[in-house]
Amino acid sequence: MATTRTFSIIKPDATRRNLTGAVTKMLEDAGLRVVASKRIRMTREQAEGFYAVHRERPFFGELVDFMISGPVVVQVLEGEDAVRRNREVMGATNPNDADEGTIRKTFAESIEANTVHGSDSDENAATEIAFFFKEDEITG
Ligand code: ATP
Ligand code: MG
Repeated sequence: MATTRTFSIIKPDATRRNLTGAVTKMLEDAGLRVVASKRIRMTREQAEGFYAVHRERPFFGELVDFMISGPVVVQVLEGEDAVRRNREVMGATNPNDADEGTIRKTFAESIEANTVHGSDSDENAATEIAFFFKEDEITG
């Protein structure tokens, strides 16, 4: 399996509870390496653009409001089969359905305030990384 990249967001529910380090440790313990990281406050335009695929979903407005409700930490993660590995350690979208030992089971407050985002394909990872990072901001 090749070393690949994925894109992660530590969401406002986690930064508010000072869990940036705890979440990052779980990512690192899962074999992922943080090769870029910055703490930002997303603008409404950024959040709407980032979640454009969900524009027609009933929760879109609330999701955007939540994502701009506090700082987030955007990260590029590198590792063997990084997208799948990250999705595994994140756990299911709804924390009630997430496996024991996953980030969402451990920390998520609700299906919306679910602590982390992770890309769902290599193609989307590349798009999402480029949305927040220049290539020279990423270093292994
Ligand atoms: P993410 O894309 O954030 O990694 P995901 O891929 O597990 O999460 P998606 O279906 O892509 O889940 O939904 C994107 C985000 O929208 C979820 O992480 C969650 O914050 C929010 N969301 C999804 N479903 C619901 C819902 N039914 N009600 C409220 N918010 C939801
Ligand atoms: Mg998703």
